[in-house]
Amino acid sequence: MKIKLLPSTFDEHGHPCVEQRLSCYLVDDTIAIDAGSLGLALAPHERTAIRDVIITHTHIDHIASLPIFIDDSFEYLEQPVRVYATAENIQRLEDDIFNWHTYPRFSELSNGHCRVMEYVTLRPNETFSIKHLTITPIPVHHAVPTVGLLLTSNDTHVAYSADTGATDEFWRVLNRLPHLDALLIECSFPNALSKLAIDSGHLTPALLDTELEKLDHLTSIYAVHIKPSYRDVIMREIAACGRTNLRIAEPGLTYEW
Ligand SMILES: [Zn+2]
Ligand SMILES: [Zn+2]
Repeated sequence: MKIKLLPSTFDEHGHPCVEQRLSCYLVDDTIAIDAGSLGLALAPHERTAIRDVIITHTHIDHIASLPIFIDDSFEYLEQPVRVYATAENIQRLEDDIFNWHTYPRFSELSNGHCRVMEYVTLRPNETFSIKHLTITPIPVHHAVPTVGLLLTSNDTHVAYSADTGATDEFWRVLNRLPHLDALLIECSFPNALSKLAIDSGHLTPALLDTELEKLDHLTSIYAVHIKPSYRDVIMREIAACGRTNLRIAEPGLTYEW
């Protein structure tokens, strides 16, 4: 399984910047998880390969360019863009984004070949399939209803926490697996802002270190969702945890297991 963290921005030479402002991960070049930079960071031929987008929650850094992605694909679509989310998050997308005011209601529009967008409702802890992947959405603890994801392809298991503070169900599901190949987990704030992290349903390096005690598997761990203004201090604090299997995922790189 390959996962690429899409860059949020590029420097003047076209190289990805290390700061992650938006969340979007491409799985095996064809399935998007969250859509923060989905409409901004891909070349046209890369966009064409993606018709399945899983939304973990509706905070703007996770959906910012979903409307742009569908808009740019509008003319070429021969099948709808399928947006996977829980029922409450589909309702939020309809109420707050695709409401004709903020952007057109794409779920009601056709380009002459097909409807351009359709929703697929996710049910917590119910495994579903997209292409070769099976995916289990697992509720996590965030300021709004959010699901982490367990992704399985053949015998490879990779988990993505989405945005979360301290949580339990996620770890229970992962601990039932025979093995876990990799974990992408958020670490938004530095230790000095732990009250803000707790209040907003996020992690700091120290809180992450505590959470990882709940995981029974030894696996490769990638910290993501590092707030750009605190990136340097968060990197130092993550290093100070002394976990040799824990590092920061870099935007623009593809990781493979
Ligand atoms: Zn969030
Ligand atoms: Zn976020």
